Amino acid sequence: MTDSGQIQIDLGRFLSKRLYPLSLGIGLLIALCFPAAYYILEYKGFERTAVHYAQKTADKFQDVVITAPTLWKYQIYTFTEIKRELFQDSDVLSVRLYDAKNLPIPNYSYNLSPDETSAWWKKSSPKGTANIYFNNEKIGRVEIVVSQKDLLIETAFLFLICTVVGLLLAYLSYNFPVRVVQKLEAELQKLFSDIHDAYQESDLLKLEAQSSEKRFRDLVDGLDAVVWEADTDNRRYSFVSQQAENLFLFPINQWQTSADFFNAQIFIDDRERVLKAYLMSAEQGSGCELEYRRISRDGSIIWVRDNLRLVTVNAKEKQLRGVLVDITNKRHAEEALNEANLELNQSVRQLEQRNLEITALHEMSDMFQLCREREEAYRIIEVVAEKLFPEDSGAFYILDSSRNMLELACSLGNGVKHEQNFPPDSCWALRRGNTNWSMNNKLVCTNKICEIDNQCFCIPMLSQGDTIGVFHLELTSGNKPGRDRVAEDTVIDYEAKYQLAVSMTEHIAMALANLSLRETLRFLSIRDPLTSLFNRRHMEETLMREIVLAERTSRTLGIIMMDIDHFKSFNDTYGHDAGDTLLKEFGRFLLNNIREYDIACRYGGEEFICILPETTLEKALERAEELRISLMSFRVEHLGRPLGMVTISAGVAIYPLHGTTEATIVKSADEALYRAKENGRNRVVAASHKGIMETKEEPFLTNLFSS
Ligand code: GH3
Ligand code: MG
Ligand code: MG
Repeated sequence: MTDSGQIQIDLGRFLSKRLYPLSLGIGLLIALCFPAAYYILEYKGFERTAVHYAQKTADKFQDVVITAPTLWKYQIYTFTEIKRELFQDSDVLSVRLYDAKNLPIPNYSYNLSPDETSAWWKKSSPKGTANIYFNNEKIGRVEIVVSQKDLLIETAFLFLICTVVGLLLAYLSYNFPVRVVQKLEAELQKLFSDIHDAYQESDLLKLEAQSSEKRFRDLVDGLDAVVWEADTDNRRYSFVSQQAENLFLFPINQWQTSADFFNAQIFIDDRERVLKAYLMSAEQGSGCELEYRRISRDGSIIWVRDNLRLVTVNAKEKQLRGVLVDITNKRHAEEALNEANLELNQSVRQLEQRNLEITALHEMSDMFQLCREREEAYRIIEVVAEKLFPEDSGAFYILDSSRNMLELACSLGNGVKHEQNFPPDSCWALRRGNTNWSMNNKLVCTNKICEIDNQCFCIPMLSQGDTIGVFHLELTSGNKPGRDRVAEDTVIDYEAKYQLAVSMTEHIAMALANLSLRETLRFLSIRDPLTSLFNRRHMEETLMREIVLAERTSRTLGIIMMDIDHFKSFNDTYGHDAGDTLLKEFGRFLLNNIREYDIACRYGGEEFICILPETTLEKALERAEELRISLMSFRVEHLGRPLGMVTISAGVAIYPLHGTTEATIVKSADEALYRAKENGRNRVVAASHKGIMETKEEPFLTNLFSS
């Protein structure tokens, strides 16, 4: 480029050097030639003017000569006249006449002025001559010299103008092409400079491209990821970054040269999925992101995330490009997290389950508080057990009052062959006083409830050291105590089930014990401890209730008030214990001789009341009489010793005939009883709202103890 630039500069100088003399020549030519030509041409004209003047003068002299042809010397006047006529105000410098011998005639010489004559321009001034003829004979000659002063002045002036013009033209003829060439030179210079710059820029670009490529390679190789490029047709890697070798330990050239390397390094289980994704990307031109496993050279499995897309390189050629990132640690962390999540979910589920179980147990306990009978409690146990052990089978056995037999109270599920009853010593749990796992200790109860093949256990129900019963539970699925994984996220926690069963059993044992206690208390609160009949307070409550019922149903209600005749004497005769025995047996007698829905009570001492719902006066009297008569054949023994017969006196009152309240009706019956006593005892007397009506005038039997 420097050479090209130098050539261009030499041409400019060459042109200016060549043009310089040429233009100078042109200038000189114009400055000199035009004035010279002008001078020559004008000089010729001056000469013609001089000739003209000479001819004219010669003509005049010819005329003068005609008149006086020989007297030249006399023609001076004429000559003077001619001179005045012809040359006044002209540029004629001198007029001279020559004779035939060509000698100047002194008197016929005229000079314009001495100064003029001696002037420089006179020396080569234009001359004109004309011959003077007389009779065709030359007699003389006229010579006129014209002044060239004006011509010289004009020529000099013209020279000045032409010099200026010539110099101007020379300047223009030199300067214009030089400037044009210089302009071209500048343009060429610029062009060359541009080309030079372009070359330089191209070189710079090339360097920058190389630098950029190096930076790109450094960047790509420095990435903590594998950048790859593969042909869609032959499925070969055309480019992989250095990280591929670092990560997967295979040399880079092996990636690019080995056939089927594209597929071979993908973990077999993921291969179909990955190839499908690659194929879909190649066909549809869409990118995709997928995670899969690759096998490194040392055989280790590396989880990668491949973010790939289809790139059109040329119009037709297409390539897959992707970025592989090692996500093994992330994947392991995710797996650990999933595992932890799974366990957490499991724990949450277990906690929820425990919560449900606790809630169910609390509900069960609450409901137990409301139970009045064991059957109700058994029903509750059944419902709750079905809820807590929906997949399992089992049964609750309760020790009977004799404590010799365990009776089936309730059951759950349907997988157990339930024995209805079995003795306590046939159950290992009850014998050991602890839970018996049939699978653990290989001890199968002789009651055949437990089977050695099943995961079942028996939990004794104990309350304050007393055995109440046993809970037998047979678990579904699995054969071992502990945990069994039966599904991906389901774990049968036998230990938890066992703990739940223990907890439930404890609740049930406590509830049943409480129920027994409540039953006892209730029994004691409404029953007379000696006769087990209802006590007076319960009788009063019951009577009020029955009166209300009778009133609502518009039915009658009867009561029989009975008093053992001469019981004091009986005590005295047989002793107080024998009296107690009699009272106790009389209570049983009453229970055996009244209807199911009649209510027998011990009113106090040896006085008893029977409430007879829906009974008329006649029927009540009849029932009382039947009792009185039956009692007479009733015999009681005390300590193997027969006791004497007793009789009763009875008063019968009817609602609403003899009273509409508990107090008035009892009072009416009491008054009737009093009348029976008064009338001789061992009799039944009906009350009347008008008075006491006696049903028997005479006792059938004599009271042995009456005085
Ligand atoms: P009456 O025919 O008039 O009824 O004469 P009675 O002796 O039966 O009547 P009384 O009221 O004089 O005596 C009632 C006796 O019943 C007095 C008491 O010692 C006795 N007695 C009351 N309660 C009991 C008890 O629980 N056990 C025993 N063994 N005797 C009782
Ligand atoms: Mg009595
Ligand atoms: Mg009495």
